[in-house]
Amino acid sequence: MAEKTLNTFEIVQQQIKEACDALGETQEVYEILKQPQSCLEVSIPVRMDNGELKIFEGYRSLHNDAVGPGKGGVRFHQNVSRDEVKALSAWMTFKCGIAGIPYGGGKGGIVVDPRDLSQGEVERMSRAYIKAIAPVIGEKVDIPAPDVNTTPQIMAWMVDEYSMLQGKNTPAVITGKPLEFGGSLARFEATGYGVALMMREAFKAKGKEMKGSKVAVQGFGNVGRFAALYAEQLGAKVVAISDVSCCLYNEKGLDVKALFDYVTIPENKNMIKGFKGADAEYDRNKVFEMDVDLFSPCALENAITTETVNKIKADIIVEGANGPTTPEADKVINEKGIFLVPDILSNGGGVMVSYFEWVQNLQNYYWSFEEVQEKQEVKMVKAFDDIYALKEKHNVTMRVAAFMMAIKRVADAMRVRGWVK
Ligand code: GLU
Repeated sequence: MAEKTLNTFEIVQQQIKEACDALGETQEVYEILKQPQSCLEVSIPVRMDNGELKIFEGYRSLHNDAVGPGKGGVRFHQNVSRDEVKALSAWMTFKCGIAGIPYGGGKGGIVVDPRDLSQGEVERMSRAYIKAIAPVIGEKVDIPAPDVNTTPQIMAWMVDEYSMLQGKNTPAVITGKPLEFGGSLARFEATGYGVALMMREAFKAKGKEMKGSKVAVQGFGNVGRFAALYAEQLGAKVVAISDVSCCLYNEKGLDVKALFDYVTIPENKNMIKGFKGADAEYDRNKVFEMDVDLFSPCALENAITTETVNKIKADIIVEGANGPTTPEADKVINEKGIFLVPDILSNGGGVMVSYFEWVQNLQNYYWSFEEVQEKQEVKMVKAFDDIYALKEKHNVTMRVAAFMMAIKRVADAMRVRGWVK
């Protein structure tokens, strides 16, 4: 039977319900958390290079700010929708809850395929977007960051625009900035580094060695790239990596650093296809079927479906993307006894180091690369251990345990603030 297609927002509502039930939370808590507090829709006029004015559609959703200001990225993608942004902002609330950082959840996006735009058009669109959402963001209100297809350079244009509107420099309004302009060392690498750390912890929990293990990574964007690089540094053989162009395979492990260099050659257009260091080049969907110990989906939502899940041979999955597994596929994963580290834990490294960046901006005092990575490691390993203990105690999955921990944190804050009983 074909899988019922749920949109991402329905998926997150189901996850909230399940965790509220497992926690024995009140209906009031569920009612508040199942919707974002606000979701602003904006139209963004951009003067294109050919002189035409084009209007783009954009959003900024604030899911919940009981714990602290909203926090979360902005994505530029043709599939961005109001529901997707709402769902992603809810995941951010829970991600921040797990990470133990004083933020709520936010997310934004523009419906656009940035590959169709020149650099100048991207800059004008980014500035126009910030102007449009300026009333709902701020250093202590809601703090954007990079997400799919948005870069430190784009963050710099956005902060510049916001600072001009405010008439003062406001570096802490957005994180994920370039190092030259208030960025933090180790932020760019942070999400992928965190994913690799969670791979290490998952191997440990399963009583297996990461050294010499075989890993497959779906996606070679900012997350997949650094997840693969650090997994290699932690001793794994990254035998398969895919992106939209293909799936590369090398039995002895791909040379990830060489692949980094390969994709940055302009004529390769950021794609892995044609890399000489592979034994074989397959269709991109082959990445699910690889004979590996661990599979890490680091691309987009709904990658692991009822169709792809049965192809997976790995007995550990570490989610790098946001929402890569559908609820139906999740059931199959649990039935098969695959150990899964859920997105809101495993890809929380990005927002964690965004928090460190924000703290550094507010203090105007900057830390070393090692200091940042050390702090990230301590926080992420603690979150993993706490969630693992909760999973054992309640006999639930890592995903449900993660949601339970996150929801408890937000619910407790809402309760002491008098929002719910
Ligand atoms: N976009 C990233 C995420 O989904 C990072 C968000 C942030 O740094 O605020 O977690």
